[in-house]
Amino acid sequence: MSAYRGLVQLGLGLWTTLRQIGRGASTVSYPEEALKLPPRWRGRPVLTRDPDGDERCVACQLCSAVCPTRCIELQAGEREDERRYPVSFRINFSRCIYCGFCEEACPTLAIQLLDAFAFSTEHHRDLIYEKEALLIDGTGKHPHYNFYRHAGVALHGKDKGQGSNESPPVNGRSNLP
Ligand code: SF4
Ligand code: SF4
Repeated sequence: MSAYRGLVQLGLGLWTTLRQIGRGASTVSYPEEALKLPPRWRGRPVLTRDPDGDERCVACQLCSAVCPTRCIELQAGEREDERRYPVSFRINFSRCIYCGFCEEACPTLAIQLLDAFAFSTEHHRDLIYEKEALLIDGTGKHPHYNFYRHAGVALHGKDKGQGSNESPPVNGRSNLP
């Protein structure tokens, strides 16, 4: 009985091998040939811009607070139009574990783990990225999202409810009898 089971297992193994051969070679000549990454791949975190080209980050510190390895540091500032932004933003990639918690916590979809993964270096100090190296020109995975059109936040020259996708604020007292 055990010899029969062994033969079946051997046959299944050979069948799997033959099937893979029939599908062609799966070896990729990296780096000459690009790797095909899965859609939910989590590469190096970057800071993205909104569709108007403004930086999305509002320096709320949520990513820094949620990061399990404490590798994000930033300082908040405010522009003349009362929009918040990070004066400095630093990630130490020698500690980052690419968990994606920062991306999930970010209310403005600013920080995103895109497909960059080839950035190894000889020195730890070269893995400390400042804002200039983190902020990209594109919108990343969310080409249409602009926090200030949805958030109901008042800015200089734009009151609450005046954004293109905002509703006017509700007067809570209007429900009182
Ligand atoms: S991916 Fe995880 S470890 Fe890396 S910066 Fe984001 S929260 Fe921190
Ligand atoms: S990247 Fe997102 S979570 Fe982090 S400070 Fe900026 S807005 Fe907040």
